[in-house]
Amino acid sequence: MQASGETTSPPVPVDTAASTALLAWYDAHARRLPWRRLPGEARQEPYRVWLSEVMLQQTTVAAVGPYFAKFLERWPKVQDLAAADDADVMAAWAGLGYYARARNLLACAREVARLGAFPDTEAGLRALPGLGDYTAAAVAAIAFDQRAVVVDANVERVVARLFAIHDPLPGARPAIRVATDRITPDARAGDFAQGMMDLGATVCTVKAPRCLLCPLRPHCAAFAQGAPERLPVKAAKKAKPVRKGRAFWIERAGAVLLVQREGRGMLGGMRALPDDGWSAKGDGSGVPARGEWRSGGVVRHGFTHFDLELQLMLCAAPELASLPAGEWWPVSDIEAAGLPTVFAKAARLALAER
Ligand code: SF4
Repeated sequence: MQASGETTSPPVPVDTAASTALLAWYDAHARRLPWRRLPGEARQEPYRVWLSEVMLQQTTVAAVGPYFAKFLERWPKVQDLAAADDADVMAAWAGLGYYARARNLLACAREVARLGAFPDTEAGLRALPGLGDYTAAAVAAIAFDQRAVVVDANVERVVARLFAIHDPLPGARPAIRVATDRITPDARAGDFAQGMMDLGATVCTVKAPRCLLCPLRPHCAAFAQGAPERLPVKAAKKAKPVRKGRAFWIERAGAVLLVQREGRGMLGGMRALPDDGWSAKGDGSGVPARGEWRSGGVVRHGFTHFDLELQLMLCAAPELASLPAGEWWPVSDIEAAGLPTVFAKAARLALAER
């Protein structure tokens, strides 16, 4: 970062000079990641690029690593994933969050298997189920070396600083995309995209950018202005609403009743504890089966658009005739059920309380 009071020359114009500097830096500093081929190596398989990009949405590199390895071991090719049972894939995804991604992953794998291969253009990729602008551009650039404008959160930050874009996010996104387009080279677009991501992750970091190590410093308008860490500006976040609900731990003969959640709603298709739809006011009314019930405490979990307070109710002697449909899962093997995080928390609380 620029020292306060230090005078600097105006930044050198960007465009090709910036991409050349960035690519030279990437050649020397590319991070080794399980899904990546380094500069000069043969291009990575589209399946692996796509799988990693879907997993990395809203999720850290460290968290994705074990899941990426597990998926590849179990489903080495996109055709294998396309042929998998939905429940197996949803269970393997459990813990990564944002479960709509897993449903889209399966839909996309099945469409690619039907087509015979991944499309090799950004437009063709964008037409696949669940592939948004970012993922289509990233796969086109990284797997097929097509020129595509790839903007993730790291790139967004680097470009907002490089061009000193002071408009707050998310409104500044169109301007950031135009600016990224300006500096995206015709050749090595995949390396360029990965280099920008690496620069954002390791040098142009959120709180303390290491400008003295940065290959883009001669071009960087925010560095020239001082205090680049103030960019990008983010619009103030609204407080998240709190929803309340109840989840039910119904146990019999060493097994707990699990249900498969319906459809495409929250956590749709996932194995879970029965619950009340999370629209209750937490007033203690209504249980899904007759029996002796007691409170097991409260589980709190943050989703993207709301926070959830889930009252856990325990029943150890349900009346069989009144039970909802589901499967009895051995309590001793509950970790293998692939419960999404909120229900895994509830299960841990139940095990401590029973
Ligand atoms: Fe500093 Fe480089 Fe980020 Fe500019 S792009 S703020 S010089 S780290």
